[in-house]
Amino acid sequence: METINWSDLSFSYIPTDYNVRCYWRNGEWGELEVSSSEYIPMHMAATCLHYGQEAFEGLKAFKGKDGKIRIFRLDENAKRLQSSCDSILMQRLPVEKFKEAVIKAVKLNERFVPPYESGASLYIRPLLVGTGARVGVNPADEYLFLVFVTPVGPYFKTGFKPTDVCILREFDRAAPQGTGNVKVGGNYAASLRSGAIAHEKGYTAVLFLDSKEKKYLDECGPANFFLIKGNQYVTPASNSILPSITNKSLMQIAEDMGMEVVRRRIEVDELAHFEEAGECGTAAVISPVGKVDDIDTGKSYVFSKDGQPGKVCEQLYKTLRGIQYGDIEDKYGWVTVL
Ligand SMILES: *Cc1c(COP(=O)(O)O)cnc(C)c1O
Repeated sequence: METINWSDLSFSYIPTDYNVRCYWRNGEWGELEVSSSEYIPMHMAATCLHYGQEAFEGLKAFKGKDGKIRIFRLDENAKRLQSSCDSILMQRLPVEKFKEAVIKAVKLNERFVPPYESGASLYIRPLLVGTGARVGVNPADEYLFLVFVTPVGPYFKTGFKPTDVCILREFDRAAPQGTGNVKVGGNYAASLRSGAIAHEKGYTAVLFLDSKEKKYLDECGPANFFLIKGNQYVTPASNSILPSITNKSLMQIAEDMGMEVVRRRIEVDELAHFEEAGECGTAAVISPVGKVDDIDTGKSYVFSKDGQPGKVCEQLYKTLRGIQYGDIEDKYGWVTVL
């Protein structure tokens, strides 16, 4: 086999041996199929290609000190895919089928799960797409569910360090009553341009405001946002935020650390009153925020003056990683050990 330098991995696609597929045809889900092809033969009029009938998930498998593989919060991802399906009228995949397919994909590609010491992990990408041919705007009558995996490096190559994000008021990620709360590809297409502008300006992400009033904080492009003040963990409440499983886990950990967890609408100006800020999601767990620049108003909100993450962010990060790698007790049954 080709050798992989585990400590050199970044967050990009590396081919693995197999992917797992399942088709919904003639009104039912079929059996799981194993494929070694990286391609999907598809009708040119498939609804995923024209009308964005597409949803995906993202989760990770970790190898522990004991050599065992652990998948984090498999159930939660299965349920979230169902709510994405409901939102854009795709056929729901049963939770058990989702779990079976993910476990199968990980086991078949076991040799790609990075070793414990590397700090890397196996990224799992399930997707569900409309494959039935349609020209009129209607849901498809056929669907494909597919799971592929790829090893990814530790998110912070240079260590756990804060990065800066910006507010770009002329862009929205999702409409107030749109699809912001489900994990569909359309939201990502809508955020590509603002994301590219933020990168050009030297920021790692856009912090989106609510698109109706431009007054409250929503979330970052691919990650939720949270703030720390004293003993409080505060994260925005909004109809257009994707319910991050990492955020949900961090809220539980914060509570267990004796913190008060608050989910409420947060006005932009309030950023000035907080001590720490972070983005959270499967890819990075936590990415501490150094400062938030509101480009159009010229206001700047600084959370880290010395280039170091805050103490609370660091403790949350270490605890969650510890549970994922099996170093800290999994009190809530978040981990599926293979
Ligand atoms: C996937 C995603 C997140 C992070 O969710 P996790 O379950 O923590 O990985 C946050 N925001 C958006 C828009 C997402 O698509």
